[in-house]
Amino acid sequence: MTMHRRRFLQSVGLGLPSLALLASLSACDDSADGEENGTPGRSGRQKVIVVGAGISGLGAARHLADKGHDVSVLEARDRIGGRIWTSQQWSGTPLDLGASWIHGIDGNPITDLAKKAGAKTVVTDLESATDYLAGGQELEGAQAQAFERWQKATANALSAFQKKDDEDASIRSVVQNAVGWSRLSDSDKAMVSYALNDYEHEYSGSVDQMSALYFDDDAKIKGKDVLFPGGYQQITDHLAKGLSVQTGQVVKRIDWTSAGVTVTTDKNAFQADHVVVTLPLGVLQSGAVTFGPGLPQAKTTAIGKLGVGVLNKCYLRFPKVFWANTDWLQYVPNVDKYGQWAQWVNVARPTGQPVLLGFNAADFGRTIENWSDTQIVDSAMATLRTIYGSNIPAPTDHQITRWASDPYAHGSYSFTKLGATSDMRDQLAASVDGRVHFAGEATDRKDYATVHGAYRSGLQAAKKITG
Ligand SMILES: Cc1cc2nc3c(=O)[nH]c(=O)nc-3n(C[C@H](O)[C@H](O)[C@H](O)COP(=O)(O)OP(=O)(O)OC[C@H]3O[C@@H](n4cnc5c(N)ncnc54)[C@H](O)[C@@H]3O)c2cc1C
Repeated sequence: MTMHRRRFLQSVGLGLPSLALLASLSACDDSADGEENGTPGRSGRQKVIVVGAGISGLGAARHLADKGHDVSVLEARDRIGGRIWTSQQWSGTPLDLGASWIHGIDGNPITDLAKKAGAKTVVTDLESATDYLAGGQELEGAQAQAFERWQKATANALSAFQKKDDEDASIRSVVQNAVGWSRLSDSDKAMVSYALNDYEHEYSGSVDQMSALYFDDDAKIKGKDVLFPGGYQQITDHLAKGLSVQTGQVVKRIDWTSAGVTVTTDKNAFQADHVVVTLPLGVLQSGAVTFGPGLPQAKTTAIGKLGVGVLNKCYLRFPKVFWANTDWLQYVPNVDKYGQWAQWVNVARPTGQPVLLGFNAADFGRTIENWSDTQIVDSAMATLRTIYGSNIPAPTDHQITRWASDPYAHGSYSFTKLGATSDMRDQLAASVDGRVHFAGEATDRKDYATVHGAYRSGLQAAKKITG
């Protein structure tokens, strides 16, 4: 996720009181970081299966193993990490195809893990940005002021809506009503659209689908953002050290009785006392995994009503750097190109390599998954040529993600959809019959859609077993 909005709210002093309150009310115990050694408590040594070797599953397994329990992780893919995935395709330039940043290093458990893993981090700054208009001109003077004004107007519209006790509505409808959309000039419409699309980059859902009341009912990010020049996978590799992880095990069914659980994969059946299910919300929604006596109604409602959105990445490698020397490049497309190639990261800053990363979220992010790589690269290059001229070099290579088409993710991360409420995440997290426990980013009411939220949810699920 790109976190523009939460940062922007802080920088212009528009932080929503409800967010601050939520953050202060829900201080979390981060003490369990996988370094403690213990013996099982009163419940004795438990046999636990963890489904999924993403950060939540590995966090849960690490905690359980360190407390002396007998843990096996079952993972469908041929790799660990899940939505943390560092590509080594370009030698000497590891690239993160899933998560990139620790969002807010202060009080963040991933900051501690990074130190323990010895992983180098580099700060990126949202204030370090060069902004371009649809025609490619750099945004300056009155237009830069208008750009900022529309971002504030958009944020204010949503904040005012959240203070009223109205029926929920989509982000787009709330903002468009508030700004008098139909009377705006084309250039103002483009700026409001950029502001709308910014929410999609952060929260992954379409502004037509995201709940204006609850979409940002999450914790405030504290501190700088950092990324890993050597790849996020250093964190998951560190957590997985010494754990029993079986890859290539596609879980199909989970059954339980008062005596224990059976987890059936495409290859074997495994018995245990407990199971920690960290399947992504998109996988739960797909019905690819069935549940023995069935899940409680409140949980199936939560699974059905919360949303899973898209954020896709397109890395382009060039013979040389020809772009602005800021961390971010932001492009304000015309309204008919809504959401197309609006946000770029200058990968040359953290890595020294001539690489650009283009993001596409929500509807456009989903649409281009059906395009060929060539079509996607051509579309990206059309935007870069508009900005930097027709003489820029062609990319020498590319790497493109398609998270919605990924059968073990079915999307990038969860969002709060119109019709859903924040407490549905608690329903998603609730254990069933004391045997079947749930974790994963979507279950974390405070920090959903992030690595640290997923990690904490794994620890919390594990603690339900360790007591
Ligand atoms: C493009 C992108 C960019 C992101 N950027 C950031 C960022 O910069 N910072 C940030 O904090 N967060 C970011 N996120 C979000 C972050 O990556 C996730 O919130 C987090 O990694 C989710 O961890 P998880 O353990 O909940 O799920 P996952 O990592 O998805 O783990 C679940 C595991 O279950 C496995 N699985 C699925 N089905 C089965 C099955 N049937 N049987 C067995 N195993 C199965 C999966 O393969 C996977 O390994 C980003 C995500 C994406 C996609």
